[in-house]
Amino acid sequence: MILLNDFRRQWADTRQDTLNAMERVGTSGWYILGPEVCQFETTLAAAWGVRNVVAVASGLDAIEISLRVLGCTRGDKVLTTPVSAFATTLAILKLGAIPVFVDCDRFGLIDLDACQRALHSDSAIRFFVPVHLYGHCLDLHKLRAILETYEIRVVEDCAQSISATFDGIPAGTVGQCAATSFYPTKNLGALGDGGAVLTDDDALAQKARILRDYGQSAKYEHEEAGYNSRLDELQAAILKGAHLPRLANWLAARRDIAESYVQGIRHPDLVVPGAPAGCASGWHLFSVFVKGGRKTDFMAHMKECGVTVGQHYPTALIDQPALVRAPHEIRGDCESARSICSSQVSLPIHPYLNGSEVETVIHACNSWSH
Ligand SMILES: *Cc1c(COP(=O)(O)O)cnc(C)c1O
Repeated sequence: MILLNDFRRQWADTRQDTLNAMERVGTSGWYILGPEVCQFETTLAAAWGVRNVVAVASGLDAIEISLRVLGCTRGDKVLTTPVSAFATTLAILKLGAIPVFVDCDRFGLIDLDACQRALHSDSAIRFFVPVHLYGHCLDLHKLRAILETYEIRVVEDCAQSISATFDGIPAGTVGQCAATSFYPTKNLGALGDGGAVLTDDDALAQKARILRDYGQSAKYEHEEAGYNSRLDELQAAILKGAHLPRLANWLAARRDIAESYVQGIRHPDLVVPGAPAGCASGWHLFSVFVKGGRKTDFMAHMKECGVTVGQHYPTALIDQPALVRAPHEIRGDCESARSICSSQVSLPIHPYLNGSEVETVIHACNSWSH
């Protein structure tokens, strides 16, 4: 079976570097918020091109803490997308804020023109959590124009988009804050949970550092009701010593595979949109959209061919049961979002796929009955 993610192959490659990282932390006798977290933050900030990285316990926490340092609180309206991991909306709900959903485009990305219309007609929307979905970077010129025109606070959800750029500009460098995740399946994954807040603003970074550690500004002095949201020394050491040094090669491998899929998949019932113009995608996921309500049939066919596929995401966030009891607003009909959710299938695109497996995936797609 060809897997969506092959962590055993990753381990075979990273084993020695990971064991060295573990040895270093074990020997140091320091396990929480120590030198490894600090060095990882500095290294990632330099690699990403931002002034500050604040490592936290998850991508979910990174979004929630980012929103909080920007002043988002109970009852505030937060513009966001109906197609993403549940965590994007959950971070907003946890603050008691109100997600305002607008529709997405044919790639599944939030429609920035619809965002503009929503902001134009409702001046109560002061916050925005756009998602660079599937590793594709949104149009950052448009995003910047929106931020400046409406003077809103933006947290870019970069959980899927580390290393993605638009017109050469990295995802995560336009909003006042960005959030990313080190969940194992992400492009830069840990061997457990983790995440980070990214920001050029030193004061915001300082607030995030206080919030991640119970709201503690000095030892036993609690300025805020914060969180226990710290990245372990162990995860930081693994990320810095074993995974971050491989990120460029992993990205190159993902881009090669995406290129092969875009060139090779030819089927009248499969839409393969590739990445939007201007965006150099990080290819966290590779989406195909199945026409004619045949998604289930296509997925069964792929399984028969020995190819694991995924769905990101089968249900729009606005249709999740948890939203029934949570205050939220929907602008427009979100028809495109629902259509994306009912037709999207993810093909394997992890960096340890080999050439013959990529060919197998392409052949499986093309051999599906018409
Ligand atoms: C994974 C993910 C998150 C949440 O990250 P966790 O580390 O799992 O909390 C948020 N947003 C998006 C788009 C994601 O893919």
